[in-house]
Amino acid sequence: MATDLQIAARKISSVNPATGEVLRELECAGADEVLAAVARARAAQVEWAEVGVRKRIALLREFQYKLQGKRSAIAEAITREAGKPVAEALTTEILVVLDAARFLIDYAYHLLRDEPLPHGNLATKLKSGRLVREPYGIVGIISPWNYPFSIPATETLAALVAGNAVVLKPSEFTSLVALELKSLLHAAGVPRDIFQVVVGDGATGAALIHSPIDKLVFTGSVATGKRIAMAAAERLLPVVLELGGKDPMLVLEDADVDVASSAAVWGAFVNAGQTCLSVERCYVHRSLYEAFLNACAEKVKRLRVGRGLDRDTDVGPMIHKRQLQIVEAHVEDALARGARVLAGGSRLPQLGTNFYQPTVLADVTHEMRIMREETFGPVLPVVAFDTDDEAVRLANDSEFGLAACVWTRDNARGERLARRIQAGTVMVNDVVSCFGISEAPHGGCKSSGIGRAHGRFGLEEMVRLKYLDVDLMPSMKKVWWYGYGANFAQQMEGFLDMQFARGWGARLRGALHAAGVMRRKRL
Ligand code: NAD
Repeated sequence: MATDLQIAARKISSVNPATGEVLRELECAGADEVLAAVARARAAQVEWAEVGVRKRIALLREFQYKLQGKRSAIAEAITREAGKPVAEALTTEILVVLDAARFLIDYAYHLLRDEPLPHGNLATKLKSGRLVREPYGIVGIISPWNYPFSIPATETLAALVAGNAVVLKPSEFTSLVALELKSLLHAAGVPRDIFQVVVGDGATGAALIHSPIDKLVFTGSVATGKRIAMAAAERLLPVVLELGGKDPMLVLEDADVDVASSAAVWGAFVNAGQTCLSVERCYVHRSLYEAFLNACAEKVKRLRVGRGLDRDTDVGPMIHKRQLQIVEAHVEDALARGARVLAGGSRLPQLGTNFYQPTVLADVTHEMRIMREETFGPVLPVVAFDTDDEAVRLANDSEFGLAACVWTRDNARGERLARRIQAGTVMVNDVVSCFGISEAPHGGCKSSGIGRAHGRFGLEEMVRLKYLDVDLMPSMKKVWWYGYGANFAQQMEGFLDMQFARGWGARLRGALHAAGVMRRKRL
């Protein structure tokens, strides 16, 4: 009880990372409030499941119109709380959510429909099988600050259309954006208890995991993800874990240096490098190495760093000082071990406390922290390689496996390499944009997580699969029931031969032996 009171008394501040201005103070939801929210969701969910997919799709369409109408205001709210340029809020958040809604509006009905499951086994031919997709009930969503709108919204839309209620615990740094999502969904007609937001920090998130939710979709760091997996294991709570990345970019010797260097610069610095899919390691064929580095350095020097609300800003601030200090520590470690700075390399205190220069590093090695740990900031470390095999080995030499990209003028060769890279997604000649492809599954392997978001497979995460079997001969006793008698084993051998023996002769003999099985007296 004392713990609950302590949690309830805690406050969090929503802060503009560009200016340090406190936008709003909010009280963290305590364990009691989380339990109350989950209880309300439980009471409302049955009716929500019963209204049917078509009605829920109609609400998604309404949500889509409402979001489209408020796109500028929501984009600016995202920028104020998360720092990114407004243009990025529109492309990587609003567009992603509008299109995720489009995907569900177009496909959810077909994807959630019962699916016939024909049987191949002769013994079970007289049955009709179907796959039925049922909502879990209450899906808990815990989300990070870096895409404060698109991550919780895409997961929420999939959960809702499948008939679940959602309780969202957003990042403590971006609660206001989550409250905007709540207003939009409620205005679209989603019942208040079907989508709820509990604001707070890690303790509120922990309270949600310990509440009687039926599934958890977590997006965040590997460290928190592991803690959550352990807590979930205690009660076998099913989880999706969308965790960190250290995505490699491979530039082969036939790549277009101008295009690939522009891709590297955008892929490394979009959202100030605070993107799970951002380029965190860049491997370039030795024959292009110097030209590529020079092109990157030259392009980076032209980037405008500043406040996201200023319309000509390319790169905004980092979310907070702690994140900036990680970047600084990684760069310092790399420099101490022999890396070379080609652009950037330090803070920009004249802009504010959270600004760091977009930085290009050469001569980095896999012994440096910058190549092993997630940096999650505006740094592009570049390494030379000599052969495709070496490039694949370096790409796979990581505990992470979220995404990767390969740059080449030969798409077939790019695809061959892509198949050898350990990652949830590999793009050939593009980067990061896979997150905006609503049909594509998003998720990783190795420490990057478990399960998928987005598209068909993201929707499948929101349903329990039930196998429904109806016997077409209800008044017939099954042949494998009791009353085996002396002949049944021989008849069964015949039945097995009939289906699986090598050669038609043996199968025919099997059929003759099996023939009496239907006449066998059963208990
Ligand atoms: P984080 O792990 O610090 O926090 C994520 C969320 O978990 C927040 O809402 C936080 O309050 C909550 N939380 C913290 N401790 C908790 C606990 N013990 N129990 C329950 N909830 C708890 O991550 P972050 O700093 O917000 O986000 C950055 C990380 O997220 C990076 O590692 C990034 O790569 C990852 N990320 C992954 C994806 C993906 O799709 N794979 C997308 C975006 C971000």
